[in-house]
Formats: sequence, C-alpha cells, structure tokens
Amino acid sequence: MAENRNIIVGLDGVPFGMIKDFTESGVMPNTSKLLNDSVLTPMYSTVPEISSVAWSSIITGANPAEHGIFGFIDLHPNSYKMRFPNFNDLRAATFWENCEGPSVIVNVPSTYPVRSMNGVHVSGFVSIDYEKSVYPESLVSTLKGLEYRLDVDSMLAHKSMDVFLDDLDRTVDARISSIQTFWDQCKWQNFMFVFTGTDRLMHFLWDAYDDKGHKYHRKFLEYFSKIDAAIGRIIDLSENSDSVILLSDHGFEKLDHDVFVSKILAEEGFLHFNPSEESSLQNIGPKTKAFALDPARIYLNRKDKYPCGSVEEKDANEILNQLEELFSSLEIDGRKVIKHIFKKEDVYEGPYFKDAPDLVLIGDTGFNLKATTAGKSRFGKGIFTGKHTYHDAFLAVKSKNRNISFDKQPSVIDAGKLIRSLTK
Ligand SMILES: [Zn+2]
Repeated sequence: MAENRNIIVGLDGVPFGMIKDFTESGVMPNTSKLLNDSVLTPMYSTVPEISSVAWSSIITGANPAEHGIFGFIDLHPNSYKMRFPNFNDLRAATFWENCEGPSVIVNVPSTYPVRSMNGVHVSGFVSIDYEKSVYPESLVSTLKGLEYRLDVDSMLAHKSMDVFLDDLDRTVDARISSIQTFWDQCKWQNFMFVFTGTDRLMHFLWDAYDDKGHKYHRKFLEYFSKIDAAIGRIIDLSENSDSVILLSDHGFEKLDHDVFVSKILAEEGFLHFNPSEESSLQNIGPKTKAFALDPARIYLNRKDKYPCGSVEEKDANEILNQLEELFSSLEIDGRKVIKHIFKKEDVYEGPYFKDAPDLVLIGDTGFNLKATTAGKSRFGKGIFTGKHTYHDAFLAVKSKNRNISFDKQPSVIDAGKLIRSLTK
C-alpha cells in the first residue's frame, strides 16, 4: 500500500493568480519547486463559492445536490428557522471513508463533528467542542500539548489588527506542529491538511497584498512564506512515488462593495416582512415571493414548501424571469453588479435537488453579495477588503502513477473525483 500514497494540501481561498505570483516572485520557493513537477490549472469553485460547499465537494467528489450541503446556513424543513449544517448532514461518503488504507485528515472545513474512521481526523471550521473535533479522542491531550487551536479568533481583527495577526501566527504554528507530529507518528495512505488562515487574512487584508506600501504588506507575504516552509518540509519528507495535490476551494479578489441582496428583494417587492416585527426570515410575510440565504442563494417562497409560501408552481417561471431581469440589470456607478445567475437546473444534479436554491447569484469583480436582512441600504462596505471568487481557485497535481491533463478548466467537483480515484 505504501507505493500508493497521496498527500493533499489545501490553501483556503487562495486564487490562481496569487499562487502564480508567489511562486514566481520567490515568496513561496518550495511551492514553486513542487509546481515545477505538477500540472497546474485554474479551477472553478462550487455554486455558491464558499468553503462549506466547496470542501464538501472536494472530499466527496460530489455535486452539492448529491452531498446535500448548499451553504453555511440552511433552513429546517417546512420552516424559515435557520440551522447550521455540519458533517452529520453530509450525504455522500468522503474519500477516506471509501479507502481501505488509513488516512490523516487535519482541518478540513465542515467536517465537524468527527466520527470514527481508519486513522486520524481533526475537523476544521466550524468546530465547536474540542472533544468532538478530534478522532481518536486519545489525541486531544497531544493536540492540547501542542497548543493546537481549532480556529483563529476573527473577532480580534475588529479590535486590533496586530493582535489578530499574532493570533493567526500562533494558530498556524500549532497547526504545522500537529501536521509534523502526525506525519512522524501515524501510519497513513492519505494525508490531507488545509490551511484556513489564508482565507481570514485575505478577507481582512487583501488591500495589504495589493498595496506594497501597506503597513501589513510584509506581514501578508511572511504568512505565505511560513506556509510555504511547511509545504517544503512535507515535500522533503515525501517519497518520489507519492501523489501530491495542492489546491484551493475558491479564489479571492478585492472587495469594493457589499451588496445586500435581501434589501434589494424587499425594495423590489419580492420580499415582505410582517409589519412591526424585525426584518428577519422568521418574520416573512405571506406576500413574499422570494427570499435569500447567504451569500446569494435565492429561494422562491413556494406554497408547497414553506409555512407562508405563496408561489404556485405555475407562476414559478415567471417570477424567476423577473428576478433574472432585476439582477442582470443591477448597476452601481455604471458598473454591472452580478456576473452570473445560475439556475438550479444549470448546476445541481442529485437526490437533494429539491433542497437546492432556485437561483444563485455570483457577484461581478469587486461586488460581495450578502443575504443578511439587516442591510440598511442596497450597497455598503464593512471591514473586509477581500472577497471570494468563483472562477479562479487553483489545482496542482503531481502524480507519477497517473497521466494528468485537463482539456477544460476543472471544478472543485472534478478535483474531488480525481482525489477519489487516486485514493481508491
Ligand atoms: Zn472566506
């Protein structure tokens, strides 16, 4: 079995352009060496382009309508009450559950709570209880000894960027120590770990990447150098016959405007709240035709699906056409706001199709779509300077055993299928 080992390294949110930049400019020299032996391609994320959905597709090779995860938030059946899907809601098997050999899985988003498996599993965000984040539980004390932390404290960035950056550093240092420890101590056929601090760093400090004169520009590069050193150590320890996959789950770019999709739906008469109650989904009024869940998943308020649903099947298409027209013509300062409008049947296929959103919007360059009903106006700008992108995640594959080539740009679902076939 040792001749068929797989190493999978995730860099959450890192766009194709950035990995090209950092490997060419010397910020990530070890990654550069790895890419010299790899096939590198830009890659599409899932729809929507968020970590919970994309990593669920990467570890299963499945479409969201097959694995059942459509966002960080979903609704309880027949209600507007929100819930947070977790690993128990994933309806497709992971590659490590399909593989007879042992695996080490560290910090993959949306894999909490852990369950028994052949090997070691430490779940990624959103992980709540330490004990439910580590399998086998006997490793909890090892991880605590390494000062391993389940996630960074992003709230710190709202108080002090320096304190937040220290927190990011301490979190990634402990993550790297744990990876080293598992590498040394565990038997494995598949070894997967994901760096998620990259996504947090880019949300808060994309401007520090863009602007060489920015106070935190060097710090931004140093964070990536640190990850590069960890990748370098793993590659040095790996064997020539090991397959290595380096990938991200979505891309990133500069954020110019937040766009409050629910506010637009309300102003255009699609979404109504009961008067004198707060504007939350729980207070949706019966005249509502459509509502949104983060980041921009739009659901028709169907009569047969929701407690105060009003949309009959015969009227669905017309309302969808009105919504498409509304969002495709949306502009601010002469700039187009929406890049893609995906219909349910364009992107989803599988047994959970009925749970999929009717439309998913993807923002054009610089437009960060949000479904929060708390938006005071259509557009705004918060603390974030970076946002996710759909079209420019990346995938790099080094494999001695397999001829790898892509005739068109793959998606994270294709990456998941490839991982599945390599780890079989
Ligand atoms: Zn993010």
